[in-house]
Amino acid sequence: MDYDASTTPRALATEAVHAGREDLAGLGLHAPPLDLSTTYPSYDTRAEAARIDDFATTGARLDGPPVYARLDNPTTARFEDALARLEGTESAVAFASGMAALTAVLLARASLGLRHVVAVRPLYGCSDHLLNAGLIGTEVTWTDPAGIADAIRPDTGLVMVETPANPTLAEVDIRAVAHSCGSVPLLVDNTFATPVLQRPAGQGARIVLHSATKYLGGHGDVMGGVVACDEEFARTLRQVRFATGGVLHPFAGYLLLRGLATLPVRVRAASTTAAELVRRLATDPRIARVHYPRVGGAMVSFEVYGDPHDVIAAVRLITPAVSLGSVDTLIQHPASISHRIVDEGDRRSAGVSDRLLRMSVGLEDVEDLWRDLTQALSAPPAGTSRAGVGSAPEPRPVGR
Ligand SMILES: *Cc1c(COP(=O)(O)O)cnc(C)c1O
Repeated sequence: MDYDASTTPRALATEAVHAGREDLAGLGLHAPPLDLSTTYPSYDTRAEAARIDDFATTGARLDGPPVYARLDNPTTARFEDALARLEGTESAVAFASGMAALTAVLLARASLGLRHVVAVRPLYGCSDHLLNAGLIGTEVTWTDPAGIADAIRPDTGLVMVETPANPTLAEVDIRAVAHSCGSVPLLVDNTFATPVLQRPAGQGARIVLHSATKYLGGHGDVMGGVVACDEEFARTLRQVRFATGGVLHPFAGYLLLRGLATLPVRVRAASTTAAELVRRLATDPRIARVHYPRVGGAMVSFEVYGDPHDVIAAVRLITPAVSLGSVDTLIQHPASISHRIVDEGDRRSAGVSDRLLRMSVGLEDVEDLWRDLTQALSAPPAGTSRAGVGSAPEPRPVGR
């Protein structure tokens, strides 16, 4: 028989549950082991010196046992391998958060003297802030997709887009943008679509960024970031990570690998519910505008005629909270929360209206979600009492 399980291409759903776990049966294990070691014993200092030299010059993953947890961790490496397979890239490098991942990309490019970034708004609020405030010495030119080629300078190290974008769900044509970038690497933040709906590397993006805190983890209990890219860039990122320390904790790596296993099922189920909510919102007289991307997904944004603060105050099943991509539904007001840090004028010109609400649809039943949403949309202004709907629960005192 000429079937070879290690070389036969597999569908995404299969990779999601098997990638990063291929060696487990040989180890006599079924669940991936969690290695929390910060350091590892070695009696051969000459060999260690050579391995450290090798890492310092190449950034290649260490062969053999790990040395120190800031350099390398086997549990995190499983998550990196699995995510690279799902995104269709050679490598992936994980970080403590999405922002740590973006910071490492910017530092990696700046280390070559390429401090200028061309970016398209909107981006996630803190990504916008990191670029715009010049906190780590980058300089940004904001443009629209059509202006990218003209905005590129000799010192441009990166072009950055988010598609669908946070929070308006605006989309860019990745292939067309990649073409405009020429030899400048294109970074696509793929947090919203996930590799289930879109694989930017196959469309010309050299760097694919995730806030793993969102869909990859999927349960609202782990913070992480990851960059999927070619091995050459991954080597530089590993060196930056080693020197700056934004490592992913191995328990987070464990949870993220576990999260990937159900990623396709979660994203597809939540997307089906989101599409149905979009259908209902689109004809609802209380809604001025619904944003939903062509690529689909579980994120829905909409502009209300009424006061968005009253809607947030009135949800009961849906949780009023920032973040997204969890098993339960969250709603938030970008102008107050996720994009508060962006200058008001920049926010508005990027299409982030003060009446916009962003909802991350979870795995609840669609009828239960609709019932909660529709009562919240009819909520009277905060402060007036309503029959049948209790006031927001008093926050419980935090335990001793
Ligand atoms: C949340 C988010 C980030 C930042 O990720 P953290 O894990 O919170 O640091 C980056 N990009 C997008 C699109 C996000 O939604």
